[in-house]
Amino acid sequence: MKWLDKVRPNIMSLIPYSSARGEFKGKASVFIDANENPYDAEFPYNRYPDPLQSDLKNLIADWRNVKVDQIFLGNGSDEIIDILIRVFCIPGRDAIYTFKPGFGMYKVAATINDISISEFPLDTTFQLDVDSFLANMPVNNKITFLCSPNNPTGNSINLSKVKFLCEKTDSIIVVDEAYIDFSEKSSAISLLSDYPNLVVLQTFSKALGGAGIRTGMAFAHPELVNIMNKVKMPYNISRSNQMEAIRLVKDIKKLEEIVEQVKIEKSKLKNALSGLNNVIEVYPSDANFFLVKFDNANAVYDSLIREGIVVRSRTNQYNCAGCLRISVGTPAENQKLMETLTKINQ
Ligand SMILES: *Cc1c(COP(=O)(O)O)cnc(C)c1O
Repeated sequence: MKWLDKVRPNIMSLIPYSSARGEFKGKASVFIDANENPYDAEFPYNRYPDPLQSDLKNLIADWRNVKVDQIFLGNGSDEIIDILIRVFCIPGRDAIYTFKPGFGMYKVAATINDISISEFPLDTTFQLDVDSFLANMPVNNKITFLCSPNNPTGNSINLSKVKFLCEKTDSIIVVDEAYIDFSEKSSAISLLSDYPNLVVLQTFSKALGGAGIRTGMAFAHPELVNIMNKVKMPYNISRSNQMEAIRLVKDIKKLEEIVEQVKIEKSKLKNALSGLNNVIEVYPSDANFFLVKFDNANAVYDSLIREGIVVRSRTNQYNCAGCLRISVGTPAENQKLMETLTKINQ
């Protein structure tokens, strides 16, 4: 496997931290191996959590229709982005590749690791010209990050383009699908069995309503999952976070109903925003937010802040002059937003 050659040699040969409980197989009733407090008062929090999160992964495997050994869990997708960079990229030498405007964490994680980042411009309608994207890939690129649906623009990258890139390069192709549950388009998970260099990122932070439990998911080739498990901190997902994530996945029907409600609110919000005469464009979105171009974005932003409404200014992002990113809120929040925007506009 060509992609395997891209793993840093020091990571390839790394002997990971090993706990006694990870080493023994079988059943036991006395656990005096980890210097924990044995008294039950704080049970189960007096005990270390499962380092490989097996109960949670079993549920995710059924729900996402993948194998348990294709799942890696991180302390948010943010941790997974950092781990991928540390697995593949040699500081001071290697690069990652993505497009702009896009999600800011790739650059932050690259910079922390002393990895250079090259950002290819999307066109004015935020589409990716995949041929010239490929042609401009830096020679020292190890990981290509594709955000789809893209933050902050809201549109998706066609799966045929993902496929094309997986085929034409042995770069690791990461598709960040933080917003996939709001989208009608299908996940790149369906391509995993064909492309060992593909990694799909999803998260509990958006549609699943678990931003506070810091749990991100990567779906990848089992060999890569093993390598990532060696690099992560041994107990990267706390016991309480694992328990809460299990609760959310078990209750997935309820979350799916909430997502349907968000979609209804989203289409109402789109109509309302489009009707404002200082709005130049509401960009098409497969996510739970809109990028909106105003003819007076900074004034709108300031007026909203004065009314206690916080939106995300994206005016300094590439090709996003005049743009604010607005999440779909509750009906009451959306109503307050629209009343305020209408008032500002008079
Ligand atoms: C919100 C978001 C995430 C989520 O990150 P977490 O660390 O899992 O909370 C990842 N990628 C993108 C593009 C996002 O917008």
